[in-house]
Amino acid sequence: MGAVTLLPDARRDNGWFEILKEVPPAAPLSGPTEADVVVVGAGFTGLAAARRLGQLRPDARILLLEAGRIGNNAAGRSSGFGIDHAHNIRSEGFADTAEFEKQQIALNRAGLSYLEEAVTAHGIDCDWSWTGKTHAACTDRGARDLKHFASTLDRIDEPYELLDADALVDRLGIDHYHQGLHTPGTALMQPAALCRGLATTLPDNVVVHEETPVTWLDAGPPHELWTDGGSVRTPELLLANNGFLAAFGFYRKHLIPVVTWGSMTRPLTDDESTSIGGHRTWGVIPAAPSGTTVRRLANGRILIRNVYSYSRHSLAGGRRRQRAGRSHRKAFEARFPSLADVPFEYTWGGALSMARNGEPVFGTVADGITAAGVHNGTGLARGAICGKLIAEMMCGEGSDLLDAMLGRGRPNKNVPDPVLGWGVEMYARRLRLQSGREM
Ligand SMILES: Cc1cc2nc3c(=O)[nH]c(=O)nc-3n(C[C@H](O)[C@H](O)[C@H](O)COP(=O)(O)OP(=O)(O)OC[C@H]3O[C@@H](n4cnc5c(N)ncnc54)[C@H](O)[C@@H]3O)c2cc1C
Repeated sequence: MGAVTLLPDARRDNGWFEILKEVPPAAPLSGPTEADVVVVGAGFTGLAAARRLGQLRPDARILLLEAGRIGNNAAGRSSGFGIDHAHNIRSEGFADTAEFEKQQIALNRAGLSYLEEAVTAHGIDCDWSWTGKTHAACTDRGARDLKHFASTLDRIDEPYELLDADALVDRLGIDHYHQGLHTPGTALMQPAALCRGLATTLPDNVVVHEETPVTWLDAGPPHELWTDGGSVRTPELLLANNGFLAAFGFYRKHLIPVVTWGSMTRPLTDDESTSIGGHRTWGVIPAAPSGTTVRRLANGRILIRNVYSYSRHSLAGGRRRQRAGRSHRKAFEARFPSLADVPFEYTWGGALSMARNGEPVFGTVADGITAAGVHNGTGLARGAICGKLIAEMMCGEGSDLLDAMLGRGRPNKNVPDPVLGWGVEMYARRLRLQSGREM
């Protein structure tokens, strides 16, 4: 295999991570060592996999290697929606085959249960709450999409509540939206705090090394992984590094690397908070696929997320960051005109990986090497369950959920760059234009 061709961007601009109380220094891998299993990547997938491997193989030495700081990665840069079912409400296939959708929802719910179990057992302080998510529309097209979404939820017997403009004002305290649909099964949390809490409560036989990017892989088995300061030999390797799988030579022509962006205000004052009324915490998902996600956080801040950009190198800085910041400002002022003077304290981007056909990477990719990733937008819940299930697979434990994941297709091939980049950017621009006021 050889050199790892791309490493994650470790810049320190992620609001969720920066507002954490205290993060002790990293302990990078140093010198040569051996392990029974090595997990690369400590996002939701790698953290769940390491936890489950530690539980199932208490006598094994398990190493979890993370390029940056846990919580400052894509997982900790997410908007913190632990979603049980469809995010993109226009999604063509959603509820077309009810049995398939029910199975996908069961997978996401199992992921959320696994996370909640750890949060409860260890008292992880991450503002975890079953607030649900409110899909909200401020355009006629968005309202039509919500109606369609309601009918698909009827088909799979999923509960929801329709909200008119007045009910939305009561809930959110703002009058930007005129139609809403609330579903109860989504958990909201502080994602960086969740990641850090998960990492510090892993079973004793899991050793975590942060600031340890794997830069070279000699594939075996046994495999030898090299970092700047050390190396590790192992018979079993799990790649839980999402889009960076391609940098290890897997699915190089299949994954679509994109960056999406978040901004967070300073905490609102009590007066500002009271002036908008509504519930103290909520999460809004836009009716348009490329619209704006908004959260009102337990700590008094407001979070805005929008804009997707194609990035072969998963870079989240410079001109693109500034453009995203401007787009967030516009979205914030449209929704909270009375708070137009409230500044953002943080703007950040995070790398994700998509597949054109929506299929995941899950299973064995080479002798002694497994991989799980590419969760297409619901990576919090899906990453957690895929991490748990891939660990169970590695330990020979079967289940219906594991069969469901093994039965999924795999990402299909794309045209090469630069054509892929042009195509994705054009598609993203079209969605942005269609989103109109939902942006
Ligand atoms: C702004 C934003 C908002 C989002 N909002 C949501 C949301 O609300 N809900 C939701 O479900 N999803 C959301 N997502 C998507 C979600 O973050 C991802 O789907 C999720 O993080 C995937 O988890 P993962 O563990 O598979 O991968 P990641 O979280 O990407 O973790 C992979 C890890 O591998 C590490 N790594 C890569 N290469 C190496 C290497 N060579 N050596 C060592 N380590 C390496 C990376 O540093 C990273 O920590 C959002 C993403 C962004 C960017």
